[in-house]
Amino acid sequence: MDLWFTEKHTDNVKLSIKVDRQVYSAQSEFQRIDIFDSLEFGRFLTLDGYMMLTEKDEFIYHEMIVHVPMAVLPQVKKVLVIGGGDGGAVRELVRYPEIQQIDLVEIDAQVIEACKKYLPQTAAKLDDPRVIIHEADGLKFVRSKKDEYDLIIVDSTDPFGPGEGLFTKEFYGNCFKALTATGAMVNQHESPFYPVDAIAMQRAHKRIVDSFPISRVYQAHIPTYPSGHWLFGFASKHGHPLQDFDAQKWKARNLKTRYYNDKIHVGAFALPNYVKRMLEEM
Ligand code: SAM
Repeated sequence: MDLWFTEKHTDNVKLSIKVDRQVYSAQSEFQRIDIFDSLEFGRFLTLDGYMMLTEKDEFIYHEMIVHVPMAVLPQVKKVLVIGGGDGGAVRELVRYPEIQQIDLVEIDAQVIEACKKYLPQTAAKLDDPRVIIHEADGLKFVRSKKDEYDLIIVDSTDPFGPGEGLFTKEFYGNCFKALTATGAMVNQHESPFYPVDAIAMQRAHKRIVDSFPISRVYQAHIPTYPSGHWLFGFASKHGHPLQDFDAQKWKARNLKTRYYNDKIHVGAFALPNYVKRMLEEM
């Protein structure tokens, strides 16, 4: 009998992926964690029935959430990753020798353990000596931080369940405070396509705009996320994601990437009219 994983995107839309076998399933204190094998997308991780990553397309998300800010910010020594227990963002960050410390704040240690065991492609660098893992709620963790991080990456689940607090005005205000003068925050900014997601996206965007003087949105195509059209937010105290982007400096690094490049960097900030209107309308 065929086995399928199905994720509900709206009341009228579902995404189904044919599953070869289930390799892991557990109920943690915070959420249900499942890992499956599939022919089309390789191994994939879901939390509470929502797709987090697949081996086939995770490079798009993780390259875009890391290399866009890294190609803009003048000097990044200390990074805070909130969420991201799968290790994909950390894997991209450790490629930069100038980064001295990465604080990974993941609420659910079981996600980290499961990914280390079953998703070594993404979790590969969690043991890098520069990585300090904090088993904590990101909302609480940033409350006491001031002028400490050059980059904050919010690699969270959606704005419900344990991730809800990471979309609040309090959280964004504390991230602003936790950043150095040249720092920036990048977050997964949900999808603009289905109204049910777009409303939450607009609400969070308004809170970021109210908390940071510079706030821009960029996009990528991620096949296994609802609608495939995904947004990221870039918010900073001074740095502008296009005016301060140095394509030559980025190219001189010679980092091999599968999705990100200097043209993608610029193009990703060109948003469709309907998205621009949504962001202006808030
Ligand atoms: N790229 C993914 C996506 O958007 O679908 C996110 C993946 S990552 C696995 C999200 C992680 O955020 C999860 O492991 C979850 O446990 C963690 N998380 C959720 N709420 C959190 C919180 N308040 N503090 C720290 N980590 C949190």
